[in-house]
Amino acid sequence: MYLKSIELSGFKSFGKKTALVFTSPIASIVGPNGSGKSNVAEAFRFVLGEQSMKSMRSKKGEDLIWGGSPALSRANRAGVKVTFDNSTRLLDMDFSEVTIERSVYRDGLNEYLLNGTQVRLKDVIRLLAGANIGGSGYQIISQGEADRILNASPRERREMLEDALGLKLYQHKKIESERKLEETALNLEKTASLRREIAPHLRFLRSQVEKIERAREQREDLAARLNEYLAREHAWITQEDARISDDEHAHERVLQTCLDAIADARKAGDPDAYNVSDLERSVSEFTVRVADARRERERLARELGRAEGALEANHVTVEAIVAVPHVRGFFRDIEIALADIERATDVNLIRSGVSQLRSSIRSFVDGLENGAPVTNAEARQQVANIQTLLQKAQETEMILSESSEMARQKIARIREQRLAAERDIVQLEANARDAQSKRDAARVARAAIVDLKRRFEDEVREGIALVGAAIHSWERSEIPYGALSEDRSMQEKRRRDIERLKIKIEESGIGNGDAVIKEFKQTKERDEFLEHEIIDLEKSAVSLRGIITDLEKTIDARFHEGLIKINESLALFFHQLFGGGHAMLELERPNTRAHEEDDDNDSYDDADDAVSRESNVDLSVGLSISVALPRKKVRGLEALSGGERALTSIALIFSMSRVNPPPFLILDETDAALDEANSRRYADMIRELGKHSQLIVITHNRATMAAAGELYGITMGQDGVSRLLSVKLEDAQKVAK
Ligand code: ATP
Repeated sequence: MYLKSIELSGFKSFGKKTALVFTSPIASIVGPNGSGKSNVAEAFRFVLGEQSMKSMRSKKGEDLIWGGSPALSRANRAGVKVTFDNSTRLLDMDFSEVTIERSVYRDGLNEYLLNGTQVRLKDVIRLLAGANIGGSGYQIISQGEADRILNASPRERREMLEDALGLKLYQHKKIESERKLEETALNLEKTASLRREIAPHLRFLRSQVEKIERAREQREDLAARLNEYLAREHAWITQEDARISDDEHAHERVLQTCLDAIADARKAGDPDAYNVSDLERSVSEFTVRVADARRERERLARELGRAEGALEANHVTVEAIVAVPHVRGFFRDIEIALADIERATDVNLIRSGVSQLRSSIRSFVDGLENGAPVTNAEARQQVANIQTLLQKAQETEMILSESSEMARQKIARIREQRLAAERDIVQLEANARDAQSKRDAARVARAAIVDLKRRFEDEVREGIALVGAAIHSWERSEIPYGALSEDRSMQEKRRRDIERLKIKIEESGIGNGDAVIKEFKQTKERDEFLEHEIIDLEKSAVSLRGIITDLEKTIDARFHEGLIKINESLALFFHQLFGGGHAMLELERPNTRAHEEDDDNDSYDDADDAVSRESNVDLSVGLSISVALPRKKVRGLEALSGGERALTSIALIFSMSRVNPPPFLILDETDAALDEANSRRYADMIRELGKHSQLIVITHNRATMAAAGELYGITMGQDGVSRLLSVKLEDAQKVAK
């Protein structure tokens, strides 16, 4: 006994709160027509989650709410609460009692409470399905719907059967899995589409990043090359600068020494310093004086000769002692004076001439009187005097000659010195020119080094702009091997290589690239995330297909098993009710056409089909009923009478309930069409069923009432409100047929 009670408040004709508490496995609800019995059955449908308004004889939710009467105003809410005994954990909840409550409001809003906690409809349905309380409605047979199972389509019939066999839970699980599979397929498509969308951008970013990385490698290469180049260049320039500077200074010193020496040499060879002209003047004077001395010496020698001759002749004459020139001069003067007298015509002139002649003769005679020796002793004295004079004259000449020679030699020496100095100066000037040209060459070289330094600084600046601070490592690095000794062409080659590398980097046109790398990283992460999503989704799709296949196999296997058992039971019930004949549920032939059409569906449905085919399960195959009545040739449901239809339905419902007893069955006047004999049989079957399932039967039938352990009477007063009465069997049977 699972159903403990049901409480209706504001539901349909139950304008006031009414509770039915069940104490017997079989409860019968009795009462006059229109008193509200079927409303109780519908209250069960309602509270168990029925969504079809039609099956509750309504059009909309509002129709289920107490509509009001002159005596009792209308309600705003219809509520039904059912209480289950859950001590056997029929419902998958860890409570010994479970209440399910559903309310509907006039605005159509529905509310579900599970043990007082608000839940969703699907939570209720799932919970009930787990307890073999399904939604196909076969557990609640509404009034006039006893033969619903016969009227149902083969597919609906199959559903009822699956429901009865407790496969609903699997069906729910399968539907849930299919829904999840569909969602997965949708997500898969969405994710794949997102991945397709970002793919071109990712490709573009990847190529950009490759370029950036290449440029970075090139930049690193450039930094290394630049560092080596700059270290070498700096070492070389420093060395060259020092060397050229030393060179320049050395040549400068040599030049200065040469210039100083030239100045000294010039000073040494200066004619003023030695007063050569004074010397030359002395030489000229000496020459004149030597000549005078020589003449004096020669005159004395001649005079000596005459004096010696006269002495030797031992007589002294005027002629002998008068000097010939003196005589000749005298003679010439006389001649001239005489000639003048001879030519003169004027007496004065002749007189003057004679006077002149006289004076000349007087002066000649005076001369003779002064010089001429008178005696031989005088003559000898005269010779001795002349000899002394001659000797002196000779000495004077010699001294003068020697002095002259000395002056001349001095001049020659000075000239020689000057020549030597000139020669030295020429040599020194040559040396100075050489030193100067070397110094100038050093200066030119130094200017070239200054240019190189400037170029070096430019290269450092440019390097910083290209590779940043990494460039400074050249300052820390050791002087590279061979930097100071290698051929300069090596360094030039390095420089050219660096220039080529710079051009390459420039041509790549890639800047810093950090933003692109960041975007690439993010996009790649996103792509990888999507890729993993796709893998996960594919995995879960595979797993879901596996679950669906397993569920289908389980459903199929249990269905076939159950079908056999139901058919066995049906045969017995049918025989019991009809006293013979037989009825059987049969699987219809699979609809091959439907499969062909399905094959045209999209890939995921194809996959589903593949799963279905793989499991060799076709859950869409419907059920038909074949009936053969005893002693009648009629076959087929169409040929059955109303009662026969009801009996067949009852046989079917009961056999289904027998194979897998539901926790409860609600039968609303299912026995309405039965005659007395069949009513008894029906009551027997109710008793039998009541051993396995709790039964709530709404009936006007006495036999049925008699089968029930308790009776509930429903009446409706003038106020239109259904009421519950406790009824005794005898009272009830009185009004029953
Ligand atoms: P029968 O024995 O003839 O089958 P019954 O006892 O099953 O009768 P129901 O069909 O359950 O009777 O009850 C029908 C009654 O409920 C009607 O009188 C109808 O007016 C009333 N009813 C239905 N819906 C509402 C509502 N929303 N408000 C008030 N009364 C309602």
